[in-house]
Amino acid sequence: MKVLVINCGSSSLKYQLIDSESEKVLAKGLCERIGIDGSKLTHKVPGREDYVVETPMPDHRKAVSLVFEALTDADHGVVKTVDEIGAIGHRVLHGGATITESCVVDEHVKKVIRDCFDLGPLHNPANLMGIEACEKVVPGKKNVAVFDTTFGMSLPEKAYYYAIPKEYYDKYGIRRYGFHGTSHMFVSRETIRFGKLDPKNAKVIVCHLGNGASVSASIGGKGVDTSMGLTPLEGLIMGTRSGDIDPAVVQFICNHENKTVDEVLNILNKKSGVLGLSGVSSDFRDVSKAAAEGNHMAQVALDAFRYRVAKYIGAYAAAMNGVDAIAFTAGVGENDAETRAQIVGQYLGYLGAKIDPERNQTRSEQEISADDSKVRLFVIPTNEELAICRETVRLVGEA
Ligand code: ADP
Repeated sequence: MKVLVINCGSSSLKYQLIDSESEKVLAKGLCERIGIDGSKLTHKVPGREDYVVETPMPDHRKAVSLVFEALTDADHGVVKTVDEIGAIGHRVLHGGATITESCVVDEHVKKVIRDCFDLGPLHNPANLMGIEACEKVVPGKKNVAVFDTTFGMSLPEKAYYYAIPKEYYDKYGIRRYGFHGTSHMFVSRETIRFGKLDPKNAKVIVCHLGNGASVSASIGGKGVDTSMGLTPLEGLIMGTRSGDIDPAVVQFICNHENKTVDEVLNILNKKSGVLGLSGVSSDFRDVSKAAAEGNHMAQVALDAFRYRVAKYIGAYAAAMNGVDAIAFTAGVGENDAETRAQIVGQYLGYLGAKIDPERNQTRSEQEISADDSKVRLFVIPTNEELAICRETVRLVGEA
C-alpha cells in the first residue's frame, strides 16, 4: 500500500509518500508559508530535480490540494491518480489522557484533538486542520492519527503523576505525557529487532538527542518513563530549552525583571538550553566548534548537556532495575560520536557499559559497544514518518 504521511505545523506541511511493502520513500516535500505571503511547495522525488510551485496558499486545504496535484502531476508525480494512495497517516502532537493508541480518525478522535488545543496550542490546531483538509480534498480516504503522546500512555501512575494537588490532574489533566513518542516507540522497537533482544522483556533506554531532546525507558517496547512532561520543556538541556529547573526560578525572574510568567516561559523555551548557556548558538555543531576554539561557556554547555543525559540514563537504569541496551538517535545522537563517547566513557562505567571507538564512528544503524560491554549500545536512526506509515497500515488493515 502507498501511504501519505502528513505532518502539519501552523504555517507548514511536510509530507512523504511511502510504499509500505518496500518501505521506500516515493516522494516527499514541504509546503511553507501557508497563510502568509510567499507560499511555496517543494516536491522531491529521488533521482529527479526538485519541483517547486510558488502560488498563494491561504490555508491548509489549499496546501493539501497542491500536494495531491504534485503527487499526480503528469511530469513530476509518482502516481497516476489519488486512488493509488491507500490511506493517510497524520502526526498529531497531543491526544490527552483519553487516547492511548493511534487510531482511524472519526468525529470522536477529532473532538479529542480539539479538546487538547490548550495542551498543544502550537501543534494540535494545525494537526486538525491537516486532517480536515484531507477529508475535504480526498473524501472517503481513511485518515489515521498517530499521537506523540501515545508512548507516554503506558507509564505507571508513579511515573506520570506530578506530586501536586490531585485536583489539577482531575480538572485539567496535568500529568507527564512525554513527547517524541513516535520516535521513542520506533527506536526502542528497532533496537530490540536489530539487537535481537528479548521482545517482551528487553530494558531499553533511548536517548533522542536533537534540537529538542528527551530520554525514555521502555520494557519490551512499552514506555515506562520519559523525560518530557506536560510540555516538551521538562527533562534534558536542549538547543533552546532549559529542561529541568527549580520552578521558583520563574517567580524570581518575574519579580526581579518585571516580566510575566508567559514571558519567562518563553525565555525557558526559546532562549535557554545550550544557546542560553553558551551565548553562541542552539546548533550543537556551532557550540562544539566554539568549544574547540577555547570558548569556556560553550564547553560548559556541552558538558552540562552530556551530564544531564547521563543523569537520566542512571535514573532510568534504576527505575527499571537494570538496562540491557542504550540507543542514541536524532541529529546529535546519530551524528555526534564525541558526545556518545563522552556520555558512556565518563559516566556509565559503573553499569559496565563500554563503547568501541571504531564502531562509534558510525552515522547509521550499528552496535557501538565493545565486545565485553555489559550493556549493549546502539546508534539507531529515528524515522517518525516510517513509524506513522507502519501504524497507518496496521490500523487500515484492521479497519
Ligand atoms: P530537531 O528535529 O529537534 O530539529 P534534529 O534531530 O534534526 O533536531 O537535530 C538537530 C541538531 O543535530 C542540531 O543542533 C545539529 O547541530 C545537530 N547535529 C547534526 N549533525 C551533527 C554533528 N555531526 N555533530 C554534532 N551535532 C550535530
